[in-house]
Amino acid sequence: MITNNDIKMKPKALGRISTKGLSEEEKLDIKYMKAAIAQAKKAYTLGEVPIGCVIVYDGKIIGRGYNRRNTDKTPLAHAEITAIKRAGKVIKDWRLEDCKLYVTLEPCQMCAGAIVQARIPEVIMAAENPKAGCAGSVMDILNNPDFNHQVSVKKGILGDECAKLLKDFFVELRARNKAQKGNPQ
Ligand SMILES: [Zn+2]
Repeated sequence: MITNNDIKMKPKALGRISTKGLSEEEKLDIKYMKAAIAQAKKAYTLGEVPIGCVIVYDGKIIGRGYNRRNTDKTPLAHAEITAIKRAGKVIKDWRLEDCKLYVTLEPCQMCAGAIVQARIPEVIMAAENPKAGCAGSVMDILNNPDFNHQVSVKKGILGDECAKLLKDFFVELRARNKAQKGNPQ
């Protein structure tokens, strides 16, 4: 019999990712996106939608974040916002002008707005978010010529892996909710 305690949210391991024949820049993008995925997995284990983010400056990760919306009871607890706050503290500036932001899912309107506000020059994202993404899916906040800052965007780095992580999460969540319904305790 399944009880609530038997069901833990546990992300599956990533499959092998080959970097054979890739340029140094592509290899670095994969390295940092893997770090963002590690953040997303923290969200997953908490039962939060698995989205993770890291900010890189001068070859170092200076900000990390993962979705904690339910845990912290605030819509502000998105991965990118947390990472931007941490990075600002590290470089002691609200402007993150020489930083790159890696995120496992296309940013929402709030995070895309914060990225523009922080003057981040480049975003590297994995999966696209057709229903809420603001790097071109629903709208393009990152690249609007009417704003005073435009962000260069690279899409699809480990996109399949991040999309699968999200899919696995929702499958597991549905199974957990169903099992809990079947076992009112
Ligand atoms: Zn967001």
